[in-house]
Amino acid sequence: MRVPMIAGNWKMNTTVSEAITLVNEIRQGLDEIKGVEKVVCPPFVSLAAIRDLIKGTSIKLGAQNLYFEEKGAYTGEVSPLMLAELCEFVIIGHSERRQYFNETGEIVNKKITAALKAGLKPVLCIGERLEENEAGKTEEVVTEQLKSSLAGIDYPGDFVIAYEPIWAIGTGKAATGKQANETIGLIRRNISELYGKEAAQDVRILYGGSVNAANAAEFMQQSEIDGALVGGASLKANEFLSIIRQTAEIR
Ligand code: PEP
Repeated sequence: MRVPMIAGNWKMNTTVSEAITLVNEIRQGLDEIKGVEKVVCPPFVSLAAIRDLIKGTSIKLGAQNLYFEEKGAYTGEVSPLMLAELCEFVIIGHSERRQYFNETGEIVNKKITAALKAGLKPVLCIGERLEENEAGKTEEVVTEQLKSSLAGIDYPGDFVIAYEPIWAIGTGKAATGKQANETIGLIRRNISELYGKEAAQDVRILYGGSVNAANAAEFMQQSEIDGALVGGASLKANEFLSIIRQTAEIR
């Protein structure tokens, strides 16, 4: 049985004080909701404060990125060792990083390797562009991204994949539950080829792309979808809580 996961990617939003306010709002009533893993991924600068605030609650913490070296002259970067003291999860290969910071499959691969070495659980993001989707290339693109991201990596155990079609991120135009379920089924078959059937049954694969309280149920009802990576809607406590609540009811 895979435990569903709802993770909030706050992106470059919230100052430290705003992050504290938001997490305090989310905390209300969250522990009563069982059977869902709840994760928030605030900006780096808020991680330490949020870690202290969520101690003893059921909320878990993730970062949005890392650099693959452990330490050294890499001004402005944050290493896996630094994050391992603060959080459990780390988002890797988000499409915004691929698009604006030129992250290639090779870099994503190095980041996953480094995260695992430091004991962090990667949330690997993959997904196709609109033109690739329209050209019927979703399967090819997603398979290539998955394989390049995981090249040379032994089955990483507790790691998470997020299928995030780029055309659905921050656009308000989500995929349908059926579309997302089909692609996630394909990703699971790829995991089976790479690591065997048991790994494919164990790995959690989330959907991400304009998930909100109004459409969450459509995704959670799908057999292959194990939760959601939520951007915009995770910045509104009520909306995020509603997504978590609906997930708990459905799964
Ligand atoms: C994301 O940033 O991973 C995301 C899915 O964003 P949004 O929910 O805003 O589309």
